[in-house]
Amino acid sequence: MFAVGHVAYGYILAKATGKAVKTDIHIPLVLALSIAPDLDLLIRGLTHRGISHSVILALLFSTPFLLKYRAKALPYLVATVQHSLLGDYLTGGAHLLSPLTTRTIGLDLSIYGQENLILECTGFILLMLVLIHSRDYSRLLKPNIENLLLIIPAVATLTPFYTSRRYVPVPVILLIPSLGLLILYALSILSLPAHAIKQLVHKAPKPRLDHPSSGGHQLSP
Ligand SMILES: [Zn+2]
Repeated sequence: MFAVGHVAYGYILAKATGKAVKTDIHIPLVLALSIAPDLDLLIRGLTHRGISHSVILALLFSTPFLLKYRAKALPYLVATVQHSLLGDYLTGGAHLLSPLTTRTIGLDLSIYGQENLILECTGFILLMLVLIHSRDYSRLLKPNIENLLLIIPAVATLTPFYTSRRYVPVPVILLIPSLGLLILYALSILSLPAHAIKQLVHKAPKPRLDHPSSGGHQLSP
């Protein structure tokens, strides 16, 4: 899948898991984890859809968090493994059981095929509906340093637009969903500096307006 699908299903499934285990999800972290396995595209020497897509590695990495936070950590594990088990499994597979085996496990649906594009668009629509219905969008737009995590999905969404090396171009049907998500990430990331600027302007001393009744200096004619 493209970044749109990975992020959409990561959010929806993590949200559903959070509801099942009665915990609120950290939205920027969920969105970042949903696409995190694809950071292998940016790391020289790593095979794309290789070790970073391993379900075994995800489970190992999650174990300390599961032991410490128990069910509360489940939405983040779900967001991470759905990337390989859903999106990449359907469209060509990945090294799901690495390092035990480097065999690519998955189906052979084309990433440009009708089935995948319908799934990605459906995921995007569901993501928007859940974001609006749960009012998560307003949480995302609140100034918070943790919103910087959205740089990860933003880079993943943008990458195919500015480079063709190792990447496949985004199909036209996913341009609007990609742009919609990029705007959401940008608004969320920029909410903190915008809030800081607003605070500065608010706190800046206002220029004193001299007036005869306030005892200020008067200009002589
Ligand atoms: Zn992937």
